Amino acid sequence: MSRELDVVVVGSLNVDLTAGVRRHPQPGETVQATALTTSAGGKGANQAVAAARLGARTALVGRVGADAHGEDLLAALRADGVETAHALRDESAATGTALITVAATGENSIVVAAAANARLSPRDIASARSLIASARVVSVVLEVPVETVCAAARAAREAGARLSLNLSPVVDLPGDVLAAADPLIVNEHEAREVLRIHGSQVPEGEVAYAEALRQVGARSAVVTLGARGAVVAEPGHTEHVPGIPADAVDTTGAGDAFAATVAWRIGRGDSLPEAARWATRVGARSVQHPGAQPSYPELDQLTGTTE
Ligand code: ATP
Repeated sequence: MSRELDVVVVGSLNVDLTAGVRRHPQPGETVQATALTTSAGGKGANQAVAAARLGARTALVGRVGADAHGEDLLAALRADGVETAHALRDESAATGTALITVAATGENSIVVAAAANARLSPRDIASARSLIASARVVSVVLEVPVETVCAAARAAREAGARLSLNLSPVVDLPGDVLAAADPLIVNEHEAREVLRIHGSQVPEGEVAYAEALRQVGARSAVVTLGARGAVVAEPGHTEHVPGIPADAVDTTGAGDAFAATVAWRIGRGDSLPEAARWATRVGARSVQHPGAQPSYPELDQLTGTTE
């Protein structure tokens, strides 16, 4: 079958309202923002934009509200070359919204209102079946209903497309969906949560996390470790891919950039460790600039990288 698209992303679109703060508020406390910006976000849209900027032929399956924010999000995706025929406008819901605070240290904290994202349905996945069948890699990310995630994973499997599953935030998934994840991508906190859900002991040291995720059912696994890079486990091989040193100003969306890059590269035939090495470069680049999508590089902005 011809694979016209490198990556089909299934996931959320949000408008990000980002307040800069000196420090995060304690519960019950009010702090003054030092800056306020509005930008395009949502884990699905972030991944789609990150992949498209790197040159991947990319489409997004998702839902926004029939409001100005939704209009702006779809326009921004198209401006980045993302195909949006299956990014639907929902008359009955608002566009998903993320309320983000970024402290002076670069650490972020986020509240997400799912809104239209919560209405992305298995029926929407069925409508996108031929799009999914044209993809080398289907990259599924959460912030959309679990039954939709499962439908997307199964549609990818049936179409013979490779499934990359970014289980963020963590939910309990049926065994066949976890088994189709090649890779399952999570950060270290999420890795511990997945292991706990599956009644597995959390091993000593993060390097063992990725193999432990394979033990609970993922075909392959990548655990991101922030500045320390990532750990990759595939059958017979576990590897720590070191982080690229960077002066972090805002880590928002680094995980999405990382997952998008992995999806693009494995679709191009890279091994998982090779794909993760690319992804650490893109992740390190993204943390050096404010925001999620605004921080994602074009391919020629990645220094020290070659095809
Ligand atoms: P977020 O929720 O902020 O998007 P995450 O928790 O999902 O991020 P991280 O592990 O923090 O994911 O980051 C993803 C990748 O981005 C890391 O594997 C690493 O390659 C890169 N990265 C993140 N933070 C830094 C940093 N401070 N310096 C260099 N690279 C970084």
